[in-house]
Amino acid sequence: MIRHHPDSNVLMEYAAGTLPWAMSLAVGAHLQLCPRCREGRHQLDCVGGGLLRHTEPQAVHSDSLARVLQRIDQDENNPSQSDLIGPEVNTAHSAAVDSGNRDRPLDQLPRLVDKLVRDNQPLHWRRMSSSLQMARLASGQNQCEVALQRIRQGGKVVEHDHRGREITLVLYGSFSDADGVYAPGDFLVREPGEVHRPMATQDQECLCLSVAEAAVSVTGILGWLVNPLLRFRPA
Ligand SMILES: [Zn+2]
Repeated sequence: MIRHHPDSNVLMEYAAGTLPWAMSLAVGAHLQLCPRCREGRHQLDCVGGGLLRHTEPQAVHSDSLARVLQRIDQDENNPSQSDLIGPEVNTAHSAAVDSGNRDRPLDQLPRLVDKLVRDNQPLHWRRMSSSLQMARLASGQNQCEVALQRIRQGGKVVEHDHRGREITLVLYGSFSDADGVYAPGDFLVREPGEVHRPMATQDQECLCLSVAEAAVSVTGILGWLVNPLLRFRPA
């Protein structure tokens, strides 16, 4: 059962199309798993449609329609907003996440995440610590770093704070920190300055999608050693 959802501000930014694309990806993937937020987004769309109906018509350039159609053609490689709707998950490609690894494959991936993983084959997993591996995913924009993060069964990630907003979507397994327990589909936003120490539950590894505006910063004396090595690479 999903317990952690995007708040109304994030959903509103998503519905209005003002979220950075990579963050929209995480929200859209959550929507594919969460009927409650799909309904919330639908209601926001209705409000937006109602506002548009009461807006005075504005003149547009004569070639506007042609430009919109051209833009739709160009966006074939980047999923449009319409691709972000719907409950679909893809079960056919789950093994790709685990290529080269020994853990059991995912049962399901949200379709958006599955497409991103597919586009980033082969995944290059980097060992960040004894408990954490990370595979960066090119998303075609340079504001945010998108990555898969896997915490080994029972593994603890070092305590860190956030220099920018970070969204985490749990895809498989679960982890906890001082604020709660997060299971598949749960959506978590960390704001700059928030400190936490995630720990995977003991029964299985945890796989998450993360979208970050900046690199994390390891706290304490270990940070002296580790932080200069942490690279932020939006792609
Ligand atoms: Zn939700």
